[in-house]
Amino acid sequence: MNKVHLPGETIGIIGGGQLGQMMAASAKEKGFKVIILDPTDNCPAAQVSDKQIVAEYDDLTSLITLAKECDVLTYEFENVDAETINEIKKYTDVPQGSKALLVTQNRIREKEFISENHFPVVPHAIVNSVEDFVIAISKLQYPIILKTVEGGYDGKGQLRIDDEGYDKDEVEELISKGTCILESRISLSKEVSVVISSNSDHEHSVFPLIENEHHNNILHISNCPARVGTSISVETYEIARSIANKLDLVGTMCIEFFIDTENKVYVNEIAPRPHNSGHLTIEACNISQFDAHILGVCDWKMPEVKLFEPAIMVNLLGQHLEPAKNQITDHEDWNFHDYGKSDSKYNRKMGHITILTEDVDSSIQQIKENPIWND
Ligand code: ADP
Ligand code: MG
Repeated sequence: MNKVHLPGETIGIIGGGQLGQMMAASAKEKGFKVIILDPTDNCPAAQVSDKQIVAEYDDLTSLITLAKECDVLTYEFENVDAETINEIKKYTDVPQGSKALLVTQNRIREKEFISENHFPVVPHAIVNSVEDFVIAISKLQYPIILKTVEGGYDGKGQLRIDDEGYDKDEVEELISKGTCILESRISLSKEVSVVISSNSDHEHSVFPLIENEHHNNILHISNCPARVGTSISVETYEIARSIANKLDLVGTMCIEFFIDTENKVYVNEIAPRPHNSGHLTIEACNISQFDAHILGVCDWKMPEVKLFEPAIMVNLLGQHLEPAKNQITDHEDWNFHDYGKSDSKYNRKMGHITILTEDVDSSIQQIKENPIWND
């Protein structure tokens, strides 16, 4: 049993982006005080919290200050140093521990964890040099994808390679950034994700299967429930529960799956935190992935998840936000989320829209026809 945390206590969050913001909003609703640590002054999470400590994520002195000021500490992303977590545990309760962080912040450890536990893994090879790369492509077939082992997100640190006519300089440049992993490119029929939350008693809240469509390797549209057969849902839920138990999950985690054209399921990635594909749970379910995160971290009971209505989420990147704002008054069905980031950039996640609808196919069609998302 972990320590139970109650309203009136203070939750510290490392990282103040949109995930931290939606976590903080859920915690505030329940009566907690919230302190954010983030280097950007007035970051999205700070805008809905009690206090911000402006500091880098690896600034140990500031992290210890945060730890001393809060009753329980959590994080919004996996790139928190596991050693640092062990250090700040001396000053406050860190119920998530560092096991899930260690496994998921490095693509090699993640793939090892997936294969050691006999979950279906994408064929891959570790690449430390151009020589390794040449040997690895002789074992894996084109098309392939080369990824940096650490720090990648939203398709950053990735190189897609279709055939031997690839650009050797690009390969060399990516490998010069650090160890890489080379993966076979799966012929995808769908991508799906399971968002699952747990308390320390391994009681789970499991959200209905979500289907994801990416553009330029960045999540574009999610819809729930996923349009897949029962056997795929059952298989992915079983894997998700088992991964949650093996990682001693506390709080919310998301497992991304690939489904190939022969309906074979692969575990792609594990995120030890709420996930972009789970944003639609805010409006579509009795508890959101952020509520479930707070419940798990505070060691409350985990409710059974109910889906009120099928839902679609579409991301608003830097190039989409202004045109989308201009259409707000035309769409009474839009649940509009603007994260309040001061710095808008092309392809940066700035907000999202959730639509509840019984007619998922035609709503997705309308999004695709809307000029907002042409780019
Ligand atoms: P991240 O989400 O950290 O950027 P991912 O490994 O999830 O990295 O890759 C982003 C997207 O790129 C995936 O959701 C998928 O659409 C595509 N992709 C990545 N790896 C593969 C692969 N091995 N086969 C097919 N598609 C892939
Ligand atoms: Mg991913």
